[in-house]
Amino acid sequence: LGRKLNAALSSLNRTPVVDEKVLDALLKEVCAALLESDVNVKLASQLRQKVRGKVKAIFEGGGEKARDANRKNVIQKAIFDELVNLVDPGIEPYKPKKGYPNVIMAVGLQGNGKTTTCTKLAVHYQKRGFKSSIVCADTFRAGAFDQTRQSATKAKVAYFGSYTETDPVAIAAQGVAKFKKEKFEVIIVDTSGRHKQESELFEEMVQIGSAVKPDMTVLVLDASIGQAAEAQSRAFKESADFGAIIVTKMDGHAKGGGAISAVAATKTPIIFLGTGEHLTDLDRFSPQPFISKLLGLGDVQGLMEHMQDLATQNPDRQKEMAKKLEEGKLSIRDWREQIQNVMNLGPISKIASMIPGLSQDLLQGSDEEGALRMKRMIYITDSMSSAELDSDGSLFMEFAKDGKPIGLTWRVSRVARGSGTTVREVEELLCQYRMMANMAKQAGGKNGWLQAMQKIQ
Ligand code: GDP
Ligand code: MG
Repeated sequence: LGRKLNAALSSLNRTPVVDEKVLDALLKEVCAALLESDVNVKLASQLRQKVRGKVKAIFEGGGEKARDANRKNVIQKAIFDELVNLVDPGIEPYKPKKGYPNVIMAVGLQGNGKTTTCTKLAVHYQKRGFKSSIVCADTFRAGAFDQTRQSATKAKVAYFGSYTETDPVAIAAQGVAKFKKEKFEVIIVDTSGRHKQESELFEEMVQIGSAVKPDMTVLVLDASIGQAAEAQSRAFKESADFGAIIVTKMDGHAKGGGAISAVAATKTPIIFLGTGEHLTDLDRFSPQPFISKLLGLGDVQGLMEHMQDLATQNPDRQKEMAKKLEEGKLSIRDWREQIQNVMNLGPISKIASMIPGLSQDLLQGSDEEGALRMKRMIYITDSMSSAELDSDGSLFMEFAKDGKPIGLTWRVSRVARGSGTTVREVEELLCQYRMMANMAKQAGGKNGWLQAMQKIQ
């Protein structure tokens, strides 16, 4: 999905003239990308309508509105915002409170990753100072309690279950009562699934729900279920009125569009993504960073966290970088330093996706190929003069009298020659840098993401 959307949006960057025909073609590509990744048809066409409605004004009248660069910005922002809306129902999920027995119940079909996710959640909350526990109320699947016992033991989390009791409602009630008495702050109830959506399963969910009265019910959804996500999530919503969604197996080849449809169908926020089989493979979800990552615009939040880790090595320099990033003043030189830092950190594929503007290209191919591409980026910047490195890239552009960029300067071919790369590669690097700078600026704004992110615990 990301690649296709990214390609569509960068084709907009290359078009000199932006008219309604260009807009139509672009929206068609965006919709095709969404459909291909299993986003529901209705949602895709709604997105198209909404973007069209939002940008209509720029095609009317002349003056400032009619400038192509301005049109590009308006269109890009409208598409970005509408994509964010797809995964953001505008509802705050439940947040566990300290000193209170927060009961969380996980529901979902068999194999979706409930048991794994329950342990990941327990680990997540335990790390944040909540005394956490798991109750295994799955009596349907043979070996379910063993699975919980093993993973909870590995995670050093308290657990409860039974080899003999066959009534899941009784086990759930007993387990929750026991952990409440022992002053646990997070009590996660793992339930059974079935291969299909069956009435018995839904009845069981209702009964367990009324026995343990969860503060939050979470639907665990496999990212790869595609178009089935809508019907499945609707069915669970009716019986187990869940207030949050966790999408698992995002590390696989899943297209993930189904999960987007589930959010829209049930107006329920995604709170985490499962990204692997290990206990720590759980990423907090927030709409804007998710979409910007999808579009190859990097994960500013991830980058900030990563920079915080680096801060322990060189605190002053990193503080300065964070500030610059926040203010949208990161120069090419600063950006290069970030790339170099990342290169010193090991597997490119895991980390590259955090650097705005880098992900789409670097994630292609093997880690070695990715490393090579990063090295070429460094070669390019090595051939830049001091003034060029300290600039925001505008030295490489030629502007018309009205401030409109009309081309590239001789500097680009000089850098290409000097670094043994091509004009195209230098252009690409500049383009990626600009994307990064723009995103970072948005991130730092008063109502920007950084502020929003700081609110997320
Ligand atoms: P349940 O039947 O819903 O309880 O599902 P399980 O927790 O038993 O998981 C089913 C399978 O999916 C197991 O093999 C898990 O290791 C795997 N799994 C769960 N979450 C993830 C994830 O985020 N990524 C990957 N790659 N595998 C996962
Ligand atoms: Mg299970």
